[in-house]
Amino acid sequence: MRDATVWRQVLGVDRATVIVKVSFEDDGDEDVVVVQVRQRRSKKPRCGKCGALAPRYDRGEGPRRWRAHDLGLVRCYLEAEAPRVQCSSCGVVVAQVPWARHDARHTYAFDDYVAWLVTHTAKSTLVELLRIAWTTVGAIVGRVVADARASHDPFDGLVRIGIDEISYKRGHKYLTVVVDHDTRRLVWAAPGRDKATLTQFFELLGPERAAKIALVSADAAEWIATVVAEHCVNATLCADPFHIVAWATDALDEVRRQHWRDAKVMGAPSVITRIKGCRYALLKNPENLTERQVESLAKVARVNTTLYRAYLLKEELRLVFQLRGKAAIKQLDAWCSWAQRCRIEPVVELYHRIKKHRASIEASLTHGLSNGLIESTNTKLRLLTRMAYGFRSTDNLIALCMLDRGGYRPPLPGRHLAE
Ligand SMILES: [Zn+2]
Repeated sequence: MRDATVWRQVLGVDRATVIVKVSFEDDGDEDVVVVQVRQRRSKKPRCGKCGALAPRYDRGEGPRRWRAHDLGLVRCYLEAEAPRVQCSSCGVVVAQVPWARHDARHTYAFDDYVAWLVTHTAKSTLVELLRIAWTTVGAIVGRVVADARASHDPFDGLVRIGIDEISYKRGHKYLTVVVDHDTRRLVWAAPGRDKATLTQFFELLGPERAAKIALVSADAAEWIATVVAEHCVNATLCADPFHIVAWATDALDEVRRQHWRDAKVMGAPSVITRIKGCRYALLKNPENLTERQVESLAKVARVNTTLYRAYLLKEELRLVFQLRGKAAIKQLDAWCSWAQRCRIEPVVELYHRIKKHRASIEASLTHGLSNGLIESTNTKLRLLTRMAYGFRSTDNLIALCMLDRGGYRPPLPGRHLAE
């Protein structure tokens, strides 16, 4: 094998890159390897921005460096001249290079390595291991995802979608997100939670593809229903089971709080502590309860029948969404007739809310939409938005969500060739 071929493989660059010289350099605190490269002369210069063939303009600002994968223990940089070209649509810009993205200070292989690692490891590990700043990671994630989305249509073949909102920055900001129920992927996200935000999605999608959407699941928000009705002429709106169960949990918590307030007014300290202590036992799914929580729940059943009835009503409603089709609708009817006459105020309110959204709840039961996708996407996105603190840009935060949930994570550089 010739030296140049070995070096190309070590650096993860393709045959369009010519290795000129490899040298060791003292960079103050540490030694670095600098590999001088250039583009193969048989390749005509192209615009760095749009990739169109473009005549050379001038030498630019002299040689540039791009961070490459570390070589063993030392840092490595590619170094090359960065001439400028005169592009007919972009003007005077730096010419395209085969080893890195336009305006990037890292090679393709380095970018992909970062994008792979960021979805697999903690922020602190990544920053120390790769010796880069967290904001740089954000920028890298942003350009890797932008590239991947440009090369294939993320909206192709959408039939059953879910629309949701998630909060980030401690609940001060929101993202509207769209998931594909069939591929289980995140397909779109944007800051905001209102008609204007969601309309952007349907404008990108276009009327033709919007007409092919058969089913839209969402929470019962009015703004989502309005925009969906306007754009998806053939779609059935389904209520997300995840959100309906959350309403039931909220209603139960309200009942518990009322009891606690009543106990306080009556001055019954033992009741106060008991009600306070049973919160998690009541709100958690019974299959996840600890032994102590089971005991606490049993106590509620003995001494506080109203609160326990509210608990059973929550569980009965949860059961609706574990069933499918006719059995689920039968269970929903049974729940409604119980809830309607239970005389527990928050539950009666819940009954009216469910009655109002009956059509979309029934659609969801008939189409058998799973609760899991929205719930797991929600949980994962919340973690990712927390991880993206310090990216300084919402676009890069969204890119991180796309990288992980949208199927844009690149393979580890060098591995996909061997597999
Ligand atoms: Zn151009």
